[in-house]
Amino acid sequence: MGKTPKNLWTAPPTKVLRADPDSSIADLDTRSTPGFTGKKAEGKEQLETRGQVLSDLQELLYANGRSGDPRSVLLVLQGMDTSGKGGMVRHVIGHVDPQGVDHAAFGVPTPNEKRHHFLWRINKALPRGGQLGVFDRSHYEDVLVARVHELVPKKVWKGRYKEINQFEKELVDSGTTIVKVAMFVSLDEQKERLQERLDRPDKYWKYNPSDVSERALWPEYQKAYQAILDRTDTDHAPWYVIPADRKWYSRIAVTELLIDALERLELDWPSADFDIDEEKRRLAES
Ligand code: AMP
Ligand code: MG
Repeated sequence: MGKTPKNLWTAPPTKVLRADPDSSIADLDTRSTPGFTGKKAEGKEQLETRGQVLSDLQELLYANGRSGDPRSVLLVLQGMDTSGKGGMVRHVIGHVDPQGVDHAAFGVPTPNEKRHHFLWRINKALPRGGQLGVFDRSHYEDVLVARVHELVPKKVWKGRYKEINQFEKELVDSGTTIVKVAMFVSLDEQKERLQERLDRPDKYWKYNPSDVSERALWPEYQKAYQAILDRTDTDHAPWYVIPADRKWYSRIAVTELLIDALERLELDWPSADFDIDEEKRRLAES
């Protein structure tokens, strides 16, 4: 066993990253590392050690799910292109057993999805009991891109904040812990990441010409993000604001948020639903 690493958090991410009604994302320093005193090397070390803790807790959740526990955890990832949503799935969720992960990515709605209420496709993708659900984009796109591009009339998207709060309340009441993460990179950092996608053949696949057009709408997106933080940060489904220019930081921060969510379930190994001594005897005799 390696030595136990020092705790380099001066304040828990659940506290320092929680959306704050008194502050504006326009003032967020996207290069900052709130609550963490270490640098990149320590951050990377943390990701491994804490990733193992996350994995152990997820196994407990999965085991309980197999025994009929209806509870689940849902990580909702939102952020502009290049903010690191995909990397979060690979490097944080990558620590846990894929059997226990319900992953869903939401892109432009298909013609069929467009014919339904915006929560229809979301409902179909919710995690089952014992699963760690991960949404790469989510129902929040329907008050982000839909608002910025006026894909629906103002009256429609305006009503969605309330609908979302209601929907999430029901989800929480049915046993799902929701962890909502909004990742923010600066306009400059996004430019660098898009540049890399154009310079490296192994990254072309991530590049989408429309990402550059969207940059012109940055202030509108900021406004739409501010609105979701102002209107859909609730005690039952809180938002966490993640400075994401430093990928190592955003990853350890979200690892801690998930560990916290799982610990709060106070899970224990499910008890045997068979007679242990009797089974030991049968096995010995077999
Ligand atoms: P990516 O996550 O890079 O694969 O891109 C997915 C794209 O789908 C993004 O441009 C999103 O804005 C878009 N998208 C996701 N959900 C919706 C939605 N409900 N309505 C319109 N566009 C959406
Ligand atoms: Mg993209």
